[in-house]
Order: sequence, then structure tokens, then C-alpha cells
Amino acid sequence: MNVINPATGDRIETYEDDDIGDAKEGLETSMDAYESWRTRPLRERELLLSNVADILGENTEKYAELMTREMGKPISQARGEIEKCEWLCNHYAEHADAYLGDDYHPSPAGSAAKTSYEPLGVVLAVMPWNFPFWQVFRFAAPYLTAGNVGILKHASNVPGCAKAIEEIFRDAGYPEGVFQSLLLPSSSVEDLLADDRVKAATLTGSGPAGRAIASTAGEHLKKTVLELGGSDPFVVLDDADLDDAAETGAWARNQNSGQSCIAAKRFIVHDDVYDEFVDRLVDEFDALTVGDPMDDDTDIGPQARVDLMEELHEQVEESVDAGATVEIGGEPLDREGAFYPPTILTDIPEGSPADTEELFGPVASVYRATDEEDAIETANDTEFGLGASIWTQDRDRGDRLAGRINAGCVYVNQLVKSDPRVPFGGVKESGYGRELSEIGIQEFVNRKTIWVE
Ligand code: NAP
Repeated sequence: MNVINPATGDRIETYEDDDIGDAKEGLETSMDAYESWRTRPLRERELLLSNVADILGENTEKYAELMTREMGKPISQARGEIEKCEWLCNHYAEHADAYLGDDYHPSPAGSAAKTSYEPLGVVLAVMPWNFPFWQVFRFAAPYLTAGNVGILKHASNVPGCAKAIEEIFRDAGYPEGVFQSLLLPSSSVEDLLADDRVKAATLTGSGPAGRAIASTAGEHLKKTVLELGGSDPFVVLDDADLDDAAETGAWARNQNSGQSCIAAKRFIVHDDVYDEFVDRLVDEFDALTVGDPMDDDTDIGPQARVDLMEELHEQVEESVDAGATVEIGGEPLDREGAFYPPTILTDIPEGSPADTEELFGPVASVYRATDEEDAIETANDTEFGLGASIWTQDRDRGDRLAGRINAGCVYVNQLVKSDPRVPFGGVKESGYGRELSEIGIQEFVNRKTIWVE
């Protein structure tokens, strides 16, 4: 695997690929590790996870720079990602025993009925490049602590991150085989997932990859969690605080250089405040600094790969050809690297890519809504259902409308975000299952009913 720095186009490292033979050997190691890992007291597994948090905290800069070099994330945001992983590990190190404690149920006098939570075995994780640490820790921290063992197949453009994470678990004191990173091509995933020793799989990535995993897993009756794409609405109502909405909206669209599943992608703005909001949003986009991702002041770095930037630009061009108006941006930057500017499109034609597809880069589609009803209808008019954000100064109105949005989460007067304390996941084409919180850690366990008479 060749790693290309997307900011410069230079090859920075080459890693030797693993193949399916290596993966099968890795599985044997996982199975050996599982036998003792599953019976290790939960408190000990929690303590090992807090060692992981410490290593992340002590080496924030090193891991942040690694991410930035491999996929171009602005360095200040890369540091934030490592800090968030540390928080996540500390969260499960502190709460896993409560999340996995036996639950007792009502039962007849003289009997006891409970649910206990037991690990499943080897869990395969297929992960994307956009948050190369966070996505992996979001799976590994809870599921390993629950007593499973994990095999990671990371995205092919971040092998250095994949290997660094394996090393973190080793250095934290995890026994060999509890967590392994295999540098596999995606064509090997089907074979690996079909192996009897793999008990479950989780994928974060695109719809086609999710369907491929789900269909193999379905054939072999294995549990899956799928975290897929999104085209989250950002609804600005007539009573919104426009300063706050525009500032937060610009960040919600452009963080991680626009490459976030829960980015605000479709801005749906009430007619009464449309012109004013669009002006403010353009100003906010204009103020963002695009540049060297290693520079602390950079807001937007390169797209993670040149081909991804080209794909994004095709979506923009096709939408403009169909009638969309470019308010700002709209052309790749004339410089070395995969740089695309913050872009706003209005007059979105029905059925154009900006209307129906996920734009995985710093491009906002803005719609005018005639009233509240029209705004909710437009928000729901998508095949995706990951998150949504609603802006109104009337909290009751926000809460009421949140109930009408067809998505896995709705934030009122806040951008959509993931937080270890609350469940995260989508509906419709955005996938199924939940990560994080007690619901996340319980996805890959056998919820066993035990009835004692
Ligand atoms: P992707 O192309 O689907 O890749 C994700 C992972 O799946 C990579 O490891 C990739 O390996 C692997 N893969 C691709 N095709 C596969 C197949 N047919 N069978 C098995 N594995 C396969 O997605 P991406 O471009 O890296 O990531 C962007 C997408 O992820 C966006 O749609 C984004 O919204 C979504 N995402 C969702 C969430 C969420 O939590 N819901 C979070 C982040 C991203 P290779 O790299 O080797 O191809």
C-alpha cells in the first residue's frame, strides 16, 4: 500500500499488503487470545483501556501528525480527534461494568430471571479514512472491553494509522491477538467474513461497502452494525438566532474539510430569513482558511485523495449544469494537492447530485423553504437518515419538530455530533445499529437470559 500525502501528492510510505492467508493466520491468533480474554475480569479489561487512554494522551501530537500526513486532516482538528478518543476510552474504562452488569427482571416468587451480557468472539471491523482514529476506537473501546477480540481492516490510504493503533493496544498491555490490524484489500473482506471463526462485523463507510458486508453476513447469519453515509439537513427556521446558526452551520459543513458523515449537507432555510442567512453563511465560508494541514491556522486542508476531490467536483459541475447557482467556491484550487474550496450552491435542481447524493467535501446545498411544513418535508426528502439539526429560539418548537425528522439523531440549536455518552447511528440508507453509550457496547454481546427456579 502506497501512502500519498494529499497536500503535496508525494508518496510518503509504502506498506506491504496482507493477504487472505495472513488474515486466516491472524484469525487463529484471535481465537487463541479470545479463550482467556473473555474470562478475564471486566475490571481488568477496563484498566487496560485506561492505559490506552493514557498512551493517547501522552502521544497526541505524534498520532495527530500521522493522520494529517496520511489523509490531510488539519492538524488542530487531528489533535481534537485524538483527545476525543482518549475521552471515549476513559468513558468505557469507567462505565463498562455498569453498562454490562446483570439486569434483573420481574419473575414469580422463588425464581430469579436476569439478562447477562457475554461476548460473541471475533468481531471484524471495516473502517474508513475520514476519522482514522476515532472510527476505530469507537468500535474497539467498547467491544474489546465487553470481552470480544477485534480484527481491523482499515481503509487502504491510512495503513500507518492502522498499524499505530495496533501498537497502542500492544503497548497498553493487551495480550497478543486481542486487537489486530490487517492491511487487507477490500476484495478479501468477503472471504474473511465468511470464515466461521468471525462472529460479527461492523462497517463504517459508504452504502455499497455496507451492502457488500450485509449480504455476506446475511448469508452466514452474522450480526452486523452499519454506519453509512448521510446527507444531514440543517433547518433554519424563521425564529433562529442567525449569527449562531450561520457560524455553527459553516463549521458543521466544513469540519474535517467537509468529509464527515454527519456534516450539515443540506441547509433548508425559512423564506423569511433566507436572504439574510445565505449572506451570513457566504461570509462564514469566505472567512475559512484553506491551506497546509500542518499549519495550526488552517481550517480546511486537502481532500483525502485526488480521485475523491475529482468525484466531488463532478457532482458540483453536474448540479451547476442542471441549474444550481454557485454563491462561493466551485472550482478546485490551482495549486499542488487535492484542495477544494468551501462552496455554496443555491437554486438546487430537483434530482441533481447536490439534491440527492452525499457530497463528501466542503460543499453546501441551500434550499428555500416556504414555511415550517415545507422545511420538514424537504429535510425528510432524502434516502439518508443519519442526523439532523434544527435552529429555532423556541425550544419546544425544536423538540416537537425533532420528532418529525426521520433520522438517527436530531440536535436542536447544535450541530450533529457524536458523544460517547449518547447512542449514535442511522436509519434508512445511513445504516442500522448503534454505537457509543450503553446501547453501543451491547450491540456485540449475547444478551443471555438466565432463569433460576
Ligand atoms: P468506503 O469506500 O465504503 O470505505 C470504507 C471501508 O470499507 C474501507 O476500509 C474500504 O476499504 C472498505 N470497503 C470498500 N468497499 C468494500 C467492499 N465492497 N467490501 C468490503 N469492504 C469494502 O467509504 P469511504 O470513502 O472510505 O468513507 C466515506 C463514506 O463513509 C461516506 O459515505 C461517509 O458518510 C461514510 N461514513 C459514515 C460514518 C458513520 O458513522 N455513519 C462515519 C464516517 C464515514 P478500501 O479503503 O481498501 O477500499
